[in-house]
Amino acid sequence: MIQSRLGSIFRTMKQIGVIGAGAAGLCAARHILANQGMVPIVWEQSEKVGGTWNYTPETGTDKNGLPIHSSMYQNLKTNLPKEVMAFPDFPFPEADESFVHHSEVKKYLENYAQHFDLYPHIKFNHHVEEVKPIIKETGPPSWSIKVKDLNSGEFSTAVCDALLVCNGHYSVPRLPIIKDIEKFQGRQIHSHNYREPSPYEGSRVVVLGASASGLDIMLELAPYAKEILLSHNLPVAVPSELPSNVRQVRGVVAATENGFTFGDGTSAEADVILYCTGYEYTFPFLSEECNVTIEDNVVKPLYKHLIHSSFPSLAFIGIPFQICPFPLFDFQVQYFVAVIAGRLTLPSPGEMATLSREDLEQQRKEGCMDRHYHRLGLIHQLTVLKDWAEGAGIPPPGKHMKTILYIVMLRFAFAHPSFKKSKFTVMEDGGVIERREGAEVYTKLELTWLLARGLFWVLWRDFPRGLSFLGSAVWGRLTRPFHS
Ligand code: FAD
Repeated sequence: MIQSRLGSIFRTMKQIGVIGAGAAGLCAARHILANQGMVPIVWEQSEKVGGTWNYTPETGTDKNGLPIHSSMYQNLKTNLPKEVMAFPDFPFPEADESFVHHSEVKKYLENYAQHFDLYPHIKFNHHVEEVKPIIKETGPPSWSIKVKDLNSGEFSTAVCDALLVCNGHYSVPRLPIIKDIEKFQGRQIHSHNYREPSPYEGSRVVVLGASASGLDIMLELAPYAKEILLSHNLPVAVPSELPSNVRQVRGVVAATENGFTFGDGTSAEADVILYCTGYEYTFPFLSEECNVTIEDNVVKPLYKHLIHSSFPSLAFIGIPFQICPFPLFDFQVQYFVAVIAGRLTLPSPGEMATLSREDLEQQRKEGCMDRHYHRLGLIHQLTVLKDWAEGAGIPPPGKHMKTILYIVMLRFAFAHPSFKKSKFTVMEDGGVIERREGAEVYTKLELTWLLARGLFWVLWRDFPRGLSFLGSAVWGRLTRPFHS
C-alpha cells in the first residue's frame, strides 16, 4: 500500500534539487534531464564545474570566505586508470597513458557538462545554506532549500520535490588525537593543504597514514625530503620496494618537542608531520529536522548507502569509499532517479530502516569496524553496482572493470612505485590488454610472480604478524559469500 502510494506521488514530480556541481552533481543533472518532466536545479558555490578536480595553489579560505574545497595537488595523477574511472556512457579521450594528470579529469568533466548541456541548469556562486523537509500528510517530503547568491549577497529559497546531496567528502580534514602534540615545534599539515613537494626539501617528514594519499605523497616527497617516516597501522608493512630514504614505522603514539614516538616503541626526530588521515563527512546545511546523523563515520539513516530511509526523496551521492567514484555515482543516480520517476518501488520506510540496521549488524559480525562501513572495496563494489543496476533496469558494470581492478590492486600493493605505468586497452569483447612502457605484458604470469614475491616478503619481514594477517584474510574470504 505504502509502496504504491510512494510510486504515484513520485510520478508527478518536477523540480529536482542538486547540491554541488562536482562529478556527482553533474552526473545527477545528466540523468535527471534524461527523464521527461523532470528538471534539475544545481547549486554550486564556486564558479566552475568539477569540484575537487579544480586545482588551486591556495589554501585556507577563498574570496568569499568559504574554506577552499579542493584537496588536489599540483602533480597528482589519478590512482585509477581512466578505463575504469569514466562514467559508463562517456569515455575519456584516447591518450598514451591510463593514469592521467588531474587537469585531464577537469577537462573531461567540463566536456561532460557541455556534452549533456548541463550548464543552463547550474547556478554558480550559489551557496546552499539550509535544507529543511516539508513534511506532507502522505508520502515523502518536499525540500526547502535556502541559498545565498555569493555575488549579490542575497538569499532565496527554492522548493524541490526531491534532493540529491552531492557536496563531496574530501574537503574537511580528519585529524588524529596525538598525545602531547601541542609540544611539537615542527610543522603540521593535512594532505588537504598539501600542494607540492619543494617546501619539504631537506626535511625529515613523518607521513602519517598509508592509504592512497599517504603513499602517493610519500613518493612525491622522497626525492626532496632528507628522510621520510611512513607511519601507519596497516596489518603488515607495505610490501613494495620503497625509495631508499623511506622507513616504515607503526602509527604515531605521542609527540615531543622535536619528534615522535611510534607504536613499535621507536622514536625519531622530525621537522614536519603530514597527516594523510582522511576526511570527515559533513552536511552543514542540513537542518535538524532532516534527522541525518554521522556516528563513527556512518551516515544514518541511509538505505543502500544512498537513500534516507525515513525521507526517501533525499539521496546522498558518493558516500561509499574505496570504489570507482564516477561509475558509482552513475549507478546510484540512476537508481534514485528510477525511484523518483516511479519506475522503481522502494520498501516502506520502516522496512528500509530495518534492512539498513541488519546490513550494519552483518558487517559488524564479519569483523568490520563501523568507521569502515561505507568502504565497499574495489572488487565488492561491483556486486553493489550490479544490485543498483538491476533496480534501475540498466546494464551492469562492464566485465573489463573486474579484470583491470584486480591488476591495479595487485600492482598497487606489491609494486607500488610503478603501478601507474600500466596502460590498458579494453577490447570489444570486454577483454583487457595491459602494456607497460609500450610492451604488452603477460599479465597473469607477471602478477602471479608479483604476488608470490610479495607474500614471501610479508612473511620474511615480520613472520608472526604476516602469518596472522594472511590467516585472517584467508579465513575472512572463506567465511564470506563469494561475489560473482
Ligand atoms: P566534489 O568533487 O568534492 O564536488 C562537490 C561540489 O559541491 C564542489 O564543487 C563544491 O564546491 C560543491 N559544494 C559543497 N558544498 C556546497 C554548498 N553548501 N553549496 C553549494 N555547493 C557546494 N577519484 C577517482 O576516481 N580517481 C582518482 O584518481 C582520484 N583521486 C583523488 C585524489 C584526491 C587528492 C582527492 C581529494 C580525491 C580523489 N578522487 C579520485 C576522489 C574524487 O573526490 C572523486 O572522484 C569525485 O571527484 C568526487 O566528486 P563529488 O562530486 O562527490 O565531490
